[in-house]
Amino acid sequence: MEKIESVNNHDDLSSDRVCAACHAKVGKAKFCPECATPIEPPRPTCEGCGHQPEGTPKFCPECGAQMSETS
Ligand SMILES: [Zn+2]
Ligand SMILES: [Zn+2]
Repeated sequence: MEKIESVNNHDDLSSDRVCAACHAKVGKAKFCPECATPIEPPRPTCEGCGHQPEGTPKFCPECGAQMSETS
């Protein structure tokens, strides 16, 4: 009887990001493990005004609305 390797499915829903170049799943990597393309961090969009501020501010620098966290 063959032993089936248990596949550890560490599918983190919050890290479901893919490489823009080769579409490999990159998780939280900063560079694609397949083709070394730099992975850009997700840009949060303000629900109030649609502004996409730099970094991950908690509040929109344009209208002061609370930014929804993408984590
Ligand atoms: Zn890639
Ligand atoms: Zn805003």
